[in-house]
Amino acid sequence: MSPTNGEKHTLAPVFGTNGQITQLLDPELWNRFKDLDQSGKICAEYVWIGGTGEDLRSKTRVLDSVPKSAADLPDWNYDGSSTGQAPGDDSEVYLKPRAIYRDPFRGGDNIIVLTDAYEPPRVQPDGSVKPPVPIPTNTRAACAEVMEKAASHEPWFGIEQEYTVLDARTKWPLGWPTNGFPGPQGPYYCAAGSGCAIGRDLIEAHLKACLYAGLNVSGVNSEVMPSQWEYQVGPVTGIDGGDQLWMSRYILVRCAELYNVEVTFDPKPIPGDWNGTGGHVNYSTNETRAKNTGWDAIQKQVEKLGKRHAVHIAAYGEGNERRLTGKHETSSMHDFSWGVANRGCSIRVGRMVPVEKSGYYEDRRPASNLDPYQVTRLLVETTLLM
Ligand code: ADP
Ligand code: MN
Ligand code: MN
Ligand code: MN
Ligand code: MN
Repeated sequence: MSPTNGEKHTLAPVFGTNGQITQLLDPELWNRFKDLDQSGKICAEYVWIGGTGEDLRSKTRVLDSVPKSAADLPDWNYDGSSTGQAPGDDSEVYLKPRAIYRDPFRGGDNIIVLTDAYEPPRVQPDGSVKPPVPIPTNTRAACAEVMEKAASHEPWFGIEQEYTVLDARTKWPLGWPTNGFPGPQGPYYCAAGSGCAIGRDLIEAHLKACLYAGLNVSGVNSEVMPSQWEYQVGPVTGIDGGDQLWMSRYILVRCAELYNVEVTFDPKPIPGDWNGTGGHVNYSTNETRAKNTGWDAIQKQVEKLGKRHAVHIAAYGEGNERRLTGKHETSSMHDFSWGVANRGCSIRVGRMVPVEKSGYYEDRRPASNLDPYQVTRLLVETTLLM
């Protein structure tokens, strides 16, 4: 098995003789190298989204100087035939740097670079060069265009990313009894105590790493199902919402690698009486945040969202129908509903909004495996551009 062959859960686990995961390498030895100076060079880790639309890929480019912004970085390319994004006989996919963050793994002046993917520029029969076009899995390009159009409304997003930590050997949630279940839901949400808050070191490491990187992570908490956790990114403006969420996921997957555990963004990892995993998106614009008139603006926007429910649901995450059942703090996938302080609705408006007459609202429909570029694009399109 090769790692992440375009499918979920394909990381080859490594077993020790007594069933423990063995460290392939001695992590202590890395300490001999990690503080060596780099002779003035810096490492840029180019990150992109692979062929499933969920897998994250990256490779390193060594640069001669520290770039000030993404615009200072060279375009690059990769072998799209190895990520399910191009045929073998025309395999080059182009990467355009879009945002840079400090690299929490390498430290120093090293950076991680969020990129998006394009077909290479091609020479046409008349000799002119056709500019690069986004490859089909590049959902960022369309999102960036919509955010550009709506820039004067200043759309803000606060994305609640839930996920589940799995034992890499068994693919069963970390800390759950082998071939069995923990006690019923109740004590695990925002928990303290062993057996209730499971895997906290990973969550803390991820939080620190995100803050170091410069991501606007606004909080973390354990969730209703044991070994399920959440962090929030935001509020962030426009395309930054999608960019920061994708980069925070990359950092999470890299942290999990260090702890020899897996994370899954599956919307309903354990069937039955266990909460699914969501990706609520909190949203506001200049209009909804405006003093006194904001509450009216919210009601107008929500009405528009109701008319386009099916379009949104179709883009809100693969397998979301297993989660949006109407139970476990969700609304049915088939109906649009909204309410003040109601967690059983498609859209929840905060208790204080009608009081303060301004604020934001929460779209509770997106699943944990949401593509934030699609969800934020649709929110802006439906509420501001239609
Ligand atoms: P919940 O009560 O649903 O669990 P959280 O506290 O987890 O909500 O997440 C709320 C998110 O909304 C946070 O990321 C927060 O930064 C964000 N947020 C706060 N104010 C706004 C706003 N005006 N517009 C958009 N997002 C906002
Ligand atoms: Mn090679
Ligand atoms: Mn939350
Ligand atoms: Mn939550
Ligand atoms: Mn929420």
